[in-house]
Amino acid sequence: MQLQTSHPIPPIFSRAVAGDRRALARLFTRAERDPSDRREVMRLAYPMSGRASVIGVTGPPGAGKSTLADGLAAAARAEGKTVGILAVDPTSPFSGGAVLGDRIRMQRHHLDPGVFIRSLATRGAGGGLSNAAAAAVRIMDAVGKDIVLIETVGVGQTELDIMEAADISLVVLVPEAGDAVQAMKAGLLEIADVFAINKADRDGAERMAAAIRGIIALDPRPPEMRPAVMLTQALDGVGVDALYDHIQTALADAAESGRLSRRRAERERRTAARQVSAALSAALRTALESDPRAAEILERVSRGELDARAAARQMLTNGAALAALDDDG
Ligand code: GDP
Repeated sequence: MQLQTSHPIPPIFSRAVAGDRRALARLFTRAERDPSDRREVMRLAYPMSGRASVIGVTGPPGAGKSTLADGLAAAARAEGKTVGILAVDPTSPFSGGAVLGDRIRMQRHHLDPGVFIRSLATRGAGGGLSNAAAAAVRIMDAVGKDIVLIETVGVGQTELDIMEAADISLVVLVPEAGDAVQAMKAGLLEIADVFAINKADRDGAERMAAAIRGIIALDPRPPEMRPAVMLTQALDGVGVDALYDHIQTALADAAESGRLSRRRAERERRTAARQVSAALSAALRTALESDPRAAEILERVSRGELDARAAARQMLTNGAALAALDDDG
């Protein structure tokens, strides 16, 4: 697909790769706002990507995710690695929360050309936040960031989709988060590769860690697949280097054993399948909206003459929906 924009993406892309931060920022804006620009950016970025280690960080608000991401970034910089931080704010329709996070982090990294920080908020993310987040990760990777930290809040479906872009997922909990069993019910065990019990300077951190370890012990997966549990004090930097080292070792092991490439391949396959089904359902919806037979069936639903399931079956079996899709080309 050719872009009809005043600034074609390829030159911007090469400038971003060469380290032009404004070009990089513009690239992100394009990929966020416009799905067709995003596809083009993704297509260009694809052959240049796959080298970055992508670390997902999630957990409840206030758990210390930003502080911890900041500490992990500092550990990566100490090794001379470049870092991209993506702060995703799925809950806020405005970028207020994410901007605040930026301001805090900027104080530490704003003079460092080796760190690039980008916020993503619901507003402006045309085509869905998780697509925009996946594109942002791909861009960071393609322009040569060694480590990409993607930070989001909570464990709703959007956040889980966002975390899917990560090679390793870190779940940050705090001692006062309450019942560990409750936390696990929210699907955390499924996504976590590492639990960081942050604010370990507070009471109850050891107890929380023990409770989570107890739950993990029941995990039917082989031990190397089960999440690790680590204690951190992000604010004072305690345990952060150990966490960083653990992540690096886990990623190296996953690369060595082939698990990392399987995880990435599986992700690409799921993305492809999801795109097909999203495109099909969008086309079908459009087609149905302009199909008089479908309109008639739906009219009968409105009048209470036909129940919704029967209506759906009729639309599919009498071919109204499928024929309409066909008409649509
Ligand atoms: P986020 O909302 O999960 O990104 O949390 P933040 O990183 O913004 O941290 C929330 C608050 O917790 C801030 O005031 C931090 O300074 C504080 N905080 C972060 N880590 C620690 C820690 O290890 N111990 C304590 N006591 N406070 C911390």
